[in-house]
Amino acid sequence: MATLEALQAQMPILPENRFVPGMSRTDAVGAFRECVNQPQTIFSTDHWLRPKLDSLRLLLHDPITADEVSALLDVLYKRHFMKDLLEWLTRKTEPWSMFFVDREERHAALSQAQNEWLNNFGKPLSGKQRALIERKHLAAAKKEYLPIAKPCASCGLPPEKLEWFHYPSLGATRFTPGRIGWQTRCGICRQEIDFFTTMLICTTRKDSVKGLMLLTRT
Ligand SMILES: [Zn+2]
Repeated sequence: MATLEALQAQMPILPENRFVPGMSRTDAVGAFRECVNQPQTIFSTDHWLRPKLDSLRLLLHDPITADEVSALLDVLYKRHFMKDLLEWLTRKTEPWSMFFVDREERHAALSQAQNEWLNNFGKPLSGKQRALIERKHLAAAKKEYLPIAKPCASCGLPPEKLEWFHYPSLGATRFTPGRIGWQTRCGICRQEIDFFTTMLICTTRKDSVKGLMLLTRT
């Protein structure tokens, strides 16, 4: 007669029984590794999985939260991608259930602000009009990039206290082909820290810019 242990060994591992809020991060990462390649869970090779587990070890809370349990199960059951989970963990700004709606809204707001900026490029604007467009643009950019912006490596000044510049600025009169986006700089150490690319310039004319919208960090 088969022992209980032998029967248990033959049963597929059910991820929902393996994760509980408050478990240690190490146990959660170990459970994740055991739960891949089960009948209903994601397929994964060691080569793919290893760096993802390293990221989870860095980014999950310790102990893990209820929200993180939901997110890990969503990835294991193929309801969402690992890259989205890692992006959410890196940002740590909203509940998992809000992440996808929030991201869509952030990207739409930034795209709209960028288009407004493009439409006004080269036009004669008053200082007040220019400031208004740039303020709106900066607010949309900070919503997207502040959670992933680095502090100053020299003095530790946090990203919200750094200077944020849009390159090129609305008052600029010519472009060189290349990237445009947001630059952070420490006002104390005079060091540039991050550059977030929002657009690649494909063609350059004094009064006409054709861009390719991107949302990346470089
Ligand atoms: Zn500094």
